[in-house]
Amino acid sequence: MPSDQRKAFRNALLPATCNHAFKRVRGYADLWANVAHLPRTIEELSALPLVEKRQMSVDQAAFRDPSFDAAAVQHTGGTTRTPLVIHRSAAELLFIERFFTKVIRDSALPAELPLCLSVLGDFHGDPTPMPYPGPTFRLNVNDSYWDLHALLTQPGDFIGRPCENIMLVGLESQLRILTTRLIETGFDFADSRVTSVHSTGDLITSRLREFYEGVWKAPLTSRYSMSEVFGGAENCAQCGYYHCDTHIVGEVVDPRSGAPIDAGCGVLTLTCLYPFVQMQPFIRYRTGDLVELGPRDCPVDSLAFRLMGREIHSIVDASADPAQPLIAAAELYDILDAYPEVALGEFEEMFRSLDSLPDRHDLGHLKYRLTSRQENGRQHIDLQIALRFTPYLYESRTRAVIDDIRAEIMRRHPYLAESIRNHRVDFDITAVSSREISQVQVDETE
Ligand SMILES: [Zn+2]
Repeated sequence: MPSDQRKAFRNALLPATCNHAFKRVRGYADLWANVAHLPRTIEELSALPLVEKRQMSVDQAAFRDPSFDAAAVQHTGGTTRTPLVIHRSAAELLFIERFFTKVIRDSALPAELPLCLSVLGDFHGDPTPMPYPGPTFRLNVNDSYWDLHALLTQPGDFIGRPCENIMLVGLESQLRILTTRLIETGFDFADSRVTSVHSTGDLITSRLREFYEGVWKAPLTSRYSMSEVFGGAENCAQCGYYHCDTHIVGEVVDPRSGAPIDAGCGVLTLTCLYPFVQMQPFIRYRTGDLVELGPRDCPVDSLAFRLMGREIHSIVDASADPAQPLIAAAELYDILDAYPEVALGEFEEMFRSLDSLPDRHDLGHLKYRLTSRQENGRQHIDLQIALRFTPYLYESRTRAVIDDIRAEIMRRHPYLAESIRNHRVDFDITAVSSREISQVQVDETE
C-alpha cells in the first residue's frame, strides 16, 4: 500500500479511536481532560499527551473499556521491570481475524501457501489471531515434540495436502532453542523445507543473523513488535528502514520534551487504531525504544526508522539539542555479541524444562553493566563487560578483546568519539569475571 493510502487509512480510523477511548476508557478521559478537541488527523495527534507503561501499570483497569469481557489475556515479558496485562475482547479478535482473512484472500496469492510454523511459545499469554490464510501450526519448543524432523522435511504429509515450503516464525529465544535442539539431535538441515525465517520482537544481532541464515540456508527477516501493541513494523525492501503496519500510527518524539521530531534520534510512540484494538487502547504509547529516523520520502511510508535499542539501556547526551545517543543499546549489544569471550547469563529459570538440550549455556543474554554519572561538568560512562574467563589470569587476551571492543564502539558511535575528543565525556571499559555481574542486562523489545 503506498504512503498516501496508508495515511488515508489511518486518518479514517483515528477519530473513532480517540472518541472511543475518551468516552469509554477512564484513564484516557482523565489524561485528556484539558485537551481542547480530540485529534481528527494524525497531524493533530500530538495534541494528546503521551502515555507510558509505568502510568498504565499503576491502575491497569483504568485503561480498559469496562463494557467488554476479556476473551484473551496477554502480558508483557517484564524485561523493563513493569509487566503489563493486556485484555482483548472477543469482538476485536473476531474483527482482526475477519479483516486480515479478507485482505489476504482478496490479494493475488499462489495456490500453495507455505506452512507457517510458529514457535512463538506461550510467554506472553493467549495468542492474537495470526493474519495468515495458509496452514498454521503452533509449536511450543519447551515441550518435546515427537516428529519434528518429519514435520520439517515432509510438511505435506503432516497437513494432508501438497506443501513444499515452510515459513518459520518465532521469538528469537524460541528460534534459538528449536535450532540448537535440531543441531544437537543431528538433524540434516539440507532436507529442511524451511525457505524463510521470521523473527519477531527480539533484537537480531549480526552474529545471530549469520548463524540462522547459515544453518537454515534461508533468509531471515526481523520484525519489530511488542506484546502490548497489536501490530509492529517491517523492514522495507526499498529504503531498508522499518515502517509501521498500516493499522498502527508511529511517531518519534524527543526523549526529554516529548515533542515530535522529524529527523535525528528519539523515542518511538505508537497508537493502535480502533477497531483493531478495542478493549485496551494504546494511544500515543511511549514504547521506550530509541530509534533513528530514516528518509521521509520513501514511497511506502513517510515514517521510516532504525531501532537503536531500549532507552533505559542506552545513554543519551542530556545536554545536546536535539538529543544525541552517546551509546545506543542495540549497537552495543550487536558489537559485544560478536565476541565469544563475553559471558552469557544462563536462562535456567526460563527454560527449566529443556531436558533434551544438554548445553543450555548459549541461550542466555550477554552480561554487561553500563552506567553513567555527571561529575564536574563532565559525563562519565563506565562499561563493565563480564568475560567467560577470569580476566587477570589471561591478561593479554583480555586487553586485546577490550581494545577491539572499544575501537568498534568508537567507530559505530561517532558522537561519543567526538564528545570524548572534546573532553565532555569520559568513557571507561573494564573486564570483570562472569560472577561479578549477577544482573543480566537484557536488551530486547517485548
Ligand atoms: Zn521504505
